[in-house]
Amino acid sequence: MDKEQIKKLAEDPRFIPGIYNYCDRWCEHCPLTSRCMNFALSEEQFDDPQSRDINNKAFWDKLSEIFRVTLEMVKETAQEWGIDLDTLDLQQATDEHEITRDIAENHECCQAAKKYGQIVKNWFDSAGELFEQKADDLALKAQLELPNSNPTEEAADLKDAVDVIRWYQHFIHVKLLRAIRGSIEETSEDLDEFPKDSDGSAKVALIAMDRSIAAWGQMLEYFPQNEDDILNILVHLDRLRRKVDAVFPSARAFIRPGFDDTNKRDSRISSQG
Ligand code: SF4
Repeated sequence: MDKEQIKKLAEDPRFIPGIYNYCDRWCEHCPLTSRCMNFALSEEQFDDPQSRDINNKAFWDKLSEIFRVTLEMVKETAQEWGIDLDTLDLQQATDEHEITRDIAENHECCQAAKKYGQIVKNWFDSAGELFEQKADDLALKAQLELPNSNPTEEAADLKDAVDVIRWYQHFIHVKLLRAIRGSIEETSEDLDEFPKDSDGSAKVALIAMDRSIAAWGQMLEYFPQNEDDILNILVHLDRLRRKVDAVFPSARAFIRPGFDDTNKRDSRISSQG
């Protein structure tokens, strides 16, 4: 796909501008795939199994093509805005970026989120027997056909809880890094009247924590014998969530395009006939 085709796609009124900036990237579960240009592009670019396989040359060829087209578009936009990319002090920009990145990485929220990712890994690494036992219990329940018991549904709920925890395990850290970096860079008073990207990123991290906490609550029901470890995880995550709420007091009120502005979204749909 060349840049003209991408531009044409971007003009399609079906798509909600910027919707993919504040989502959780879990397209498989997203109710708004048909409104997302990022999803449409991925489907178009990675439309066969080879191009979706990170170990296949076709994947890297596609990725390199996307970078090439993106760079072309950046250069074109810079030209339109009268910015001469050759005169930019890239070294200074890189140095500033690295300083901000280091501050963000050392921020207590990011440190706690990174630790959470490791705690989750350790828990699952050591939970093999718990899951085997649970599988045996559910198989037995299915065989006995006990009244008031639905092992199939229980197994599906357990899988959902695990999927949620695994999906957000590292996502929270990544989003908080972006939120903290953004909050350092958003220093201009001019930005006060606009929604802040840092609040949007923090909101997505908060939602990921809300869902993870609910999923760990379910895990507690499935594995009461592991109560101490699971409660420790819940305490860690809840503390992190409260800290993020305090650092980003406006995050919960941030309106995510497409997800939180349903009236505006639905009026866009109806105006398309
Ligand atoms: S908005 Fe939905 S479809 Fe688009 S990238 Fe995010 S999760 Fe995927």
